[in-house]
Amino acid sequence: MLNIVLFGPPGAGKGTQAYKLIEKYKLVHLSTGDILRAELAAKTKLGEEARKFMDKGELVPDEVVIGMIRKKLNDNSEANGFIFDGFPRTKEQAKALDVLLDESGNSITAMLALDVEHAELVKRLLNRGKNSGRADDQDISIIENRVIVYHNETKLLIDYYSEQGKFSSINGMGTIDEIFKRLCQKVDTFY
Ligand code: AMP
Repeated sequence: MLNIVLFGPPGAGKGTQAYKLIEKYKLVHLSTGDILRAELAAKTKLGEEARKFMDKGELVPDEVVIGMIRKKLNDNSEANGFIFDGFPRTKEQAKALDVLLDESGNSITAMLALDVEHAELVKRLLNRGKNSGRADDQDISIIENRVIVYHNETKLLIDYYSEQGKFSSINGMGTIDEIFKRLCQKVDTFY
């Protein structure tokens, strides 16, 4: 099973690249942001609770997102592997993911971290906000807060996966196809 943590700050291109990777390698895409937005749209209790955090660019509590991932892993037990996009975002989440995968004798293969300059992140997010309708992509102060949260709470996961020899940095600047090629070169080494 190939289990990739696609990592990087908001706007790094994780979602875009995840869609291309799952198609090429026949993997399942697990984006906690997408799952949460579906809950918001369906106006579920979980969605209403999550909205309070998402509207400010803060992280939704660990137990909520870990519960969502547990369910998705169980629902997709026959998968060839997963692309984790936007998860894990804290050490608690990373540890929980290891435990969940271990229950079926699996583990994370690698963390591929997209490296993108700050100005480019903000540009991409504002641009996406024009079409996506996402409130958190349209307000510069929410965008900046999401990047701060990434630096304060999420970036430390680079150490977590480095210590396990699983971290790779991928240049995330350039065209979608250039970045995809770099990711594929790395993923191909795992087969
Ligand atoms: P994303 O689509 O990954 O940019 O996520 C959008 C928002 O959903 C984030 O700003 C958080 O509020 C929330 N979110 C998504 N994934 C997680 C996660 N793994 N842990 C906590 N909050 C999350």
